Order: sequence, then structure tokens, then C-alpha cells
Amino acid sequence: MKPSYIIVWKGLKEGVYYYEWRVGDGFWADYPESGILRGEAEVKIKMEVGRGGVKLEIGIEGSVTVECDRCLDECELPVRHEDELTAKYSDVEMDLRQYIYESIILALPLLRVHPDKAQCNPEMLKRITE
Ligand SMILES: [Zn+2]
Repeated sequence: MKPSYIIVWKGLKEGVYYYEWRVGDGFWADYPESGILRGEAEVKIKMEVGRGGVKLEIGIEGSVTVECDRCLDECELPVRHEDELTAKYSDVEMDLRQYIYESIILALPLLRVHPDKAQCNPEMLKRITE
């Protein structure tokens, strides 16, 4: 069964709630256009339910494997994201799957390359520059 990333608010009392989710390799199968081959991340959420509103502090930390734009080898990039969201309590639940996906994509650099050029595949670099 695929993990869900849904917080159900209905019936929650005022207070602070914590959620910890994992994003694993299976997550990326739904997003082939992302270019992410594999990836693991921890999603930690602190949620404060107050009168009429909900505040979420979200932290995502992990790494993903993509194809290096420079040498086409696989390249692992770190992912780190912190954010705060507020929402009205009128909704019954909140599905954070799309949010998690977009946050990880936005946490990646525009140019997806090995951080150090020395980590790139030398054979391939030679072929490209020739
Ligand atoms: Zn590279």
C-alpha cells in the first residue's frame, strides 16, 4: 500500500500535533516528468490547531538521485526545505502529496549537476567537449 500524506482535521481538538512521514522510491513512480530516479526524504510536520485556523511547520530533508546535466551519470543531490503554511479550518483534510513533491523539486538547483566537477564522469566530459 502506498503511504498517504493526508492530514485529517475533522474532529481534531485544539492543540499541537506532530507527523513524520517518509518519502521513498515508490513516491517518484507517480512523477516520471520530475527526472528524479530515486529519492528518500523525511517529512516532519508540527501542526498547531487553533480557533478557526491551522498552522503547519514543515521540514523536508533527504536526497534524490537525478541524471547529471553535465555528464549524464547518476548524481545524488541533497534536499532541504523548511516552510510554514496556514490554512483555514473549514476544510476537512489536507493532502500534502503535491506540496511535498513541489517542495522537493524547488529545493533542487536549476542546474542538476554533480556539486564538484571532479565527481563527473571524465570519459563522458571528454566526449562532450570533443
Ligand atoms: Zn556529472
